[in-house]
Formats: sequence, structure tokens, C-alpha cells
Amino acid sequence: MKINKLKSKAFSTKAIHAGQEPDPSTGAVMTPITLSSTYAQKAPGKHKGYEYSRVSNPTRKALEHCISALEEGSFSFACASGVAASSLIFEILKPGDLLVAEEDLYGGSLRILTKILKPRGISIHLMDLSKEDNIFKIPKKAKMIWLESPTNPLMKLIDIKKVSAVAKKNKSLLVVDNTFMSPFFQKPLLLGADIVLHSATKYLSGHSDIVAGVITTHCPDLAESLAFWSKSLGPVLSPFDSYLLLRSLKTLAIRMKAHEQNALELALFLEKQKRVKKVLYPGLKSHPQHQLALKQMSGFGGMISFYLKGGKKEVFECLSRFQIFTLAESLGGVESLVEHPASMTHAASPHPPSESLIRISTGIEDVKDLKSDFLQALKSKKPFKRQENKAR
Ligand SMILES: *Cc1c(COP(=O)(O)O)cnc(C)c1O
Repeated sequence: MKINKLKSKAFSTKAIHAGQEPDPSTGAVMTPITLSSTYAQKAPGKHKGYEYSRVSNPTRKALEHCISALEEGSFSFACASGVAASSLIFEILKPGDLLVAEEDLYGGSLRILTKILKPRGISIHLMDLSKEDNIFKIPKKAKMIWLESPTNPLMKLIDIKKVSAVAKKNKSLLVVDNTFMSPFFQKPLLLGADIVLHSATKYLSGHSDIVAGVITTHCPDLAESLAFWSKSLGPVLSPFDSYLLLRSLKTLAIRMKAHEQNALELALFLEKQKRVKKVLYPGLKSHPQHQLALKQMSGFGGMISFYLKGGKKEVFECLSRFQIFTLAESLGGVESLVEHPASMTHAASPHPPSESLIRISTGIEDVKDLKSDFLQALKSKKPFKRQENKAR
């Protein structure tokens, strides 16, 4: 269905129909996977809108229309991974430019900043933007401001509207990585961001079987530049993965509701466990920015982090005991995952998080089974007590 006809429709309707009409030549209801790399022309330059699949492909185009509808933006780009999407956006920066970024970011984004952009002569300034005072200290000359909210893995929230007001005043571009929330729970473009991106590998795919990234903007000039870099550099998503992602989006709304329902129940449950020191989940009243969560998001998502009492040994012992949760990197799939940021996703970070921090991606299994998995994993074999030094 055409985007303009769907404008007034609800999220789940858009997720199922946007960019997708029955195939005019066969009536096929599902968008065909167009594998062709090239397209016939009647005369040079006279074609049906497609010339070469690096530039544009019908399956990828359908996906890009659907993403634009969900983020309430105008132009989208589907890329071969989340980091490919980030790299395309970073093409905006030239040597001498200043990039201001939230300090608690996806490890791979920090790696691009410190190991690729900085050596190219782009200045990087990391700040804790969850502190409101700091938002007003963002340097005026920042060309771009880059953030995630909630942050990964500390689950801090950043007031996107406040940052966007500062960005607009200073003519800085605001980029929001919306991977943790998905457009179902948070729409950064409506909060004033210029560009939103996702690792579509996570919630948008939801089944841990695609690596993909998407970018959306409402600004025609930015879209023109992104389209130019995309066609010139070629980090595009394949037709098959575009199809899989389009298929995944159809269930995004029901999946996100189920992730959130389980996560909220699990977070409350974890707060009551003796071996758990602190739970970080924006849906909990104990989260210091719970009020901002209520204002800026329409739900709290499926990601939870928590501190376990004890050190690395106790944490590793617990991590290896899970039976339903899988110990693995990544997030956003229907299956529950657990991981150790300090040694896995954030090992390369300039400030790795505490050894006692555990991050979970709550899946959509029955929450009773998730809780009982936790109960057995938290049960230490020995009573939990620091060992006395017997030699003394
Ligand atoms: C995974 C992730 C990325 C990188 O995406 P890939 O698809 O793995 O390339 C970027 N940002 C966030 C928040 C992520 O979780």
C-alpha cells in the first residue's frame, strides 16, 4: 500500500502493508525477491525506475518504504549491517569536524569513533548526555551529535527533545541509534532528531537470522547525500535479506509488546532476588529516569541490565548455568539471551563496564520458564560468602 494512503493508519497496519502491494504482473500478495542485478531499458535512460541493483532494487525499495512509514520519516536506506549504516552516516563528517557522542554507546560504534574517525582527523568528544546539565555544555561547533537512548549497556536515558533543541540552535545534526527501542516504542524523528538508524539485526529482524542496518531521515538534502554515498560505496542490503526483514516487520508490534511484558515482569522479579545488587530497566520505578521513560517512549522494551553481587568468578559461574537463556552477544530476537558486557560486547570500549554487570535480552518465551531459569542460575553451589583466608 502507498505510504500516503497509510499515513493515518496505526503502527501494526503500516508494518504489514507499507511499501507492499500485490505484484502487478502476477497478483502475488507477498513482495517478490528480485534477484536481478540489472534491468532492461527501452532506450538509453528509459526504464521502469530501476537500472542496477546497487543503486536501487524493488525488494529493498519495498523495505525502505516500510521503514520510512514506521519511523514517520520520508527517506530510508537499507544497509548490509548496522555498522554499514553508521559508516554511511559518518561520511557526512570531514577532517576538522567535531563529533559529540554519548559516552555509553554500542561497542562497535565506539570502535569506529576512536579507531577510524579519530585517525582521519575528526575530533571526538564523549559526554554523559544523560545528565541534563551536560546537554547545555555540548560544544557549539559540533557538526554531529550521536546518541543511543536507552544507552547500551547501562540503560541510561537521554532526553532527545532537549538535545535536539540544542542541536537546532547550534546547527548540529542529531543522529539517534534507535536499536534498543525500535520505532514501536520510540520515534526519534518526531522528537527532533535529523537521522535515525537501527541495527536491524536486532528487534527489526527479531529472529537472529539477518545482519542488516537501516537509516531514516526526513531531510531531502541529507537523503540525497546518503543516496550518493550508498550508490558510490555500495553497502546495500541484499534482496533476500531485504525480503526477510520485510517479513519480520509484519510481527514487530506483537513481538515488542511480548518482549516488554516479559521484561517488566522479569525486572520486578530480579529486583527481589538476594544475589542481585541492582536492576537497570527504564520500566522500573527505581530507574532514576523513569519519568523521562514515560514521556519519551511509549514502552520500555526488552533490554535489562543488572549487577550481581560478587566478582567476575561468581558472575561467570552464574552465566554458564543458564539453560533457556543462551549466553551470546546480540539482542532483540524472540529467544532470550544473556551476556557479559565487560568481556563480550564492550570488551574494546575505552571504559568497559563493571565486571559484575550482566545484560539480558528478554525473549518471548513463557515468562514462568524464564524466571525458573534465573532461579536455578542464581543458586550458587557454595553459599555466597567471601572465602575467609584460612592461613591467618
Ligand atoms: C548491534 C548494534 C549495532 C551494530 O549493528 P550490526 O548489525 O551488528 O552491524 C549498532 N548499534 C547498536 C545499539 C547495536 O546493538
